[in-house]
Amino acid sequence: EQASSPYIYDLADGNADMKPLLGGKGAGVAEMHRIGVPVPDAFTVTTTACVETMRTGEWPAGLWDQIQAAVKRLEERTGRTLGGSEKPLLVSVRSGSVQSMPGMMDTILNLGISDSSVEALGAEAGNPRFAWDSYRRFISMYGEVVEGIAPHIYEDALSAAKQAKGVASDTDLDAEDLKALVAEYKRLSSDALGGAWTTDPMEQLRRAVDAVFKSWNNPRAEVYRRANNISAAMGTAVNVMQMVFGNMGETSGTGVCFTRNPSTGAKELYGEFLTNAQGEDVVSGIRTPRRLEEMEQVLPEAYHQLIETMELMEKHYKDMQDMEFTIQDGKLYMLQTRNGKRTARAALRVAGDLVDEGIIDKTEAVRRIEPGQLDQLMHPGIDPDAKPEAITTGLNASPGAAVGAIVFDADTAEERGKAGEDVVLVRWETTPDDIHGVIQAQGVLTSHGGMTSHAAVVARGMGTPCVAGAHELAIDAANKVVTVNGRTWHEGDIISIDGTTGEVFEGAVKLIPPAMDEDFERIISWADEVKSLVVRANADNGPDAAKAREFGAQGIGLCRTEHMFMDEVRLPAVQRMILAEDQAERAAALAEILPLQQSDFESIFEAMTGLPVNIRLLDPPLHEFLPGLVEQNLKVQELRLTGGSQEDITREEALLARVKKLSEANPMLGLRGCRLSLLYPEIPVMQTKAIVRAAIAVKQRGGDPVLEIMVPLVAYPEELKRLREIIVRVADEEIAAAGIELEYTVGTMIELPRAALVADQIAEYADYFSFGTNDLTQTGIGLSRDDAEGSFLNAYIDNDIIPANPFAQIDRDGVGELVRIGVEKGRKAKPGLKTGVCGEHGGDPESIELFNEIGMNYVSCSPYRVPIARLAAARAAL
Ligand code: ADP
Ligand code: MG
Ligand code: MG
Repeated sequence: EQASSPYIYDLADGNADMKPLLGGKGAGVAEMHRIGVPVPDAFTVTTTACVETMRTGEWPAGLWDQIQAAVKRLEERTGRTLGGSEKPLLVSVRSGSVQSMPGMMDTILNLGISDSSVEALGAEAGNPRFAWDSYRRFISMYGEVVEGIAPHIYEDALSAAKQAKGVASDTDLDAEDLKALVAEYKRLSSDALGGAWTTDPMEQLRRAVDAVFKSWNNPRAEVYRRANNISAAMGTAVNVMQMVFGNMGETSGTGVCFTRNPSTGAKELYGEFLTNAQGEDVVSGIRTPRRLEEMEQVLPEAYHQLIETMELMEKHYKDMQDMEFTIQDGKLYMLQTRNGKRTARAALRVAGDLVDEGIIDKTEAVRRIEPGQLDQLMHPGIDPDAKPEAITTGLNASPGAAVGAIVFDADTAEERGKAGEDVVLVRWETTPDDIHGVIQAQGVLTSHGGMTSHAAVVARGMGTPCVAGAHELAIDAANKVVTVNGRTWHEGDIISIDGTTGEVFEGAVKLIPPAMDEDFERIISWADEVKSLVVRANADNGPDAAKAREFGAQGIGLCRTEHMFMDEVRLPAVQRMILAEDQAERAAALAEILPLQQSDFESIFEAMTGLPVNIRLLDPPLHEFLPGLVEQNLKVQELRLTGGSQEDITREEALLARVKKLSEANPMLGLRGCRLSLLYPEIPVMQTKAIVRAAIAVKQRGGDPVLEIMVPLVAYPEELKRLREIIVRVADEEIAAAGIELEYTVGTMIELPRAALVADQIAEYADYFSFGTNDLTQTGIGLSRDDAEGSFLNAYIDNDIIPANPFAQIDRDGVGELVRIGVEKGRKAKPGLKTGVCGEHGGDPESIELFNEIGMNYVSCSPYRVPIARLAAARAAL
């Protein structure tokens, strides 16, 4: 007889490579079994069966027959019978997708317990109470998860039983009490279903498998998938596994362990366990578990075997493992293993250590780090010097600092978080049902649950700071207050949490900007060895440029000169320039601005000495520097009404007239960029002078400025030709006057479709191209960013009309194609033409992959994304 059938794999027939078919859990247990680690016997229903079921709405033909046959084989191998009155077989029915989604889908334990098997189970264990308690738990779990019965009906019955006996704890109920409770549970279940309650284990199994299939599409699984970019098409496998009992007494137990610390990456013991407990007890946060270290005293033999198994598994998978285990009467069983979810800091540390330990090589280390995850490390931390006294402390479950308003439920966290407010979700414990709130919160604080609770695992995976098990918190969620050590906090009060230390503070603590630590530097330097793209930063001032350099930027890819204009000292001069009646007046105003711009450029050249600095000439429409039309109108009215001086009135009226004249219907496509410079050549003249003089000054002080001057929004080659002439004339004059040698290049932005299409003609006048992919996305797709984001764009993404926000991740087929054409045409006309990208896409890993593929020379992004871009560039090159 053939063992495994198309939709079923018996434990012995699977292995680690079969993850797509068996899910992570199924492949993991099969692999453990294969290498001799003790695992309860099992079989796995494939993800294909789930996908088929979702596609057609019913089980694929033959699936039920195959499951029945697999149960028979499991019964033969174990020498037990499902629901049998002698040597009964009990199983769990476990979900398990390809990419792990901790706690998001359903699992049913203790299936096979029934009126006929419960006595035998109790007799075998020498513990009838245990059997009846398992039966009670099974009915409520099965009723809830599979039949959708409201959990409170069981909880109420349990409370009533305790009250009737006058006891407080579940453990005070004896076998007889539980037996009566089971009868009551069955009656309640049957009533709830109008008599349709089934007691046949085989039928229960059929329904349980179906429920697990369906749990692939439950709301929390959907939310989790969306947040983690997991495809909805993959489906879950279903693992049917013989039960082992951690709740048979004090020589039994259950727990979770990591082979390294998933928070810090340190190679140390990290795990939790409980004696006389089953399954979810440890991870659900209902009981606070004990530290794994203590297990050495309680269950020494199993403990040492566990430590050995952890070492074996880590060597085998060459990565940190997160494992579940259960001890039944002193005997250890492993129930699950997966590559452990970890913080970015831990990911870097583990990858570095694994290289040191000779387990993986440097390239593999680079491959192991998800660039997007590094974002976590680029957020501010709590300033240790300005740190106030902690009000209370919990477990440091997920590192990082979070400051926000207290909210007491996930829905409010979601609502207020989406509205842009920083919130900290404060809960007794969090369950997988809170996932939508956790995603939107800055941080999570719980009064219960341990380091391996679902809350902690999910928070770490997402990089959300979390303090768990802060016992001193007395949370009254109904009335939205929490009291702790004499303080009372209400919803909306600001608190701070430090997930690195476990501390909780009142109010907003002072934060400091992030810095790169040793492990970070090390891996990123390995990334630099393999990447071919240069990574520059966008920076508009000296301090930002210095920060960028600290993060490894190899130059400035975009310096926006207009940001310097916004300064409150300069704005009046800029406004005078805009209001000028004639060229002379305009030149006078510009002369005021020149030294100010020059000093800004000097500090940038100094910070970036030896590395290129690409400075863009004035880009935005002039009215951005003026007050709004309505605002100015009001000002004039008010002056008139309050009897302002004639001089003031005349001046404000002139400004109003100018505002009116400059206001445009569609400023994004109006008088801006090179158009502005061509209309008012005094502006590029002044800016060129400021740039070149700054470079001369820095060079005279011994620095090495490498300047690039860039013209924005070119559509026609003629535009660049004329502006280049102005820039070159002014620059050469300045250089000659200083009697110094100084090189510079003149380039252009490619940010209009026309420019990309005639890039060969434009290249004639350009020393380099910088693709302004923000504007190229707006103009290439015909999508106004300000009008789309926060409006219809989300609906587009949610409804799968487009795969992602094109302003965050480049639209490969459209805008990406324009970039490709621009690069190819430019290089055809001018072989070896230097091309780069500025704009947010320069820091986005997916987009970087495309830019690398096109063969561009550099990307440029905000200083804090530089390390991410360096890593992404390396991974793109691998
Ligand atoms: P999740 O994906 O939510 O972690 P699991 O399928 O791993 O769900 O099961 C939930 C809990 O039940 C885990 O703690 C697991 O160890 C436990 N469990 C699952 N199957 C068995 C079994 N056959 N025997 C004992 N405990 C089990
Ligand atoms: Mg699990
Ligand atoms: Mg632009």
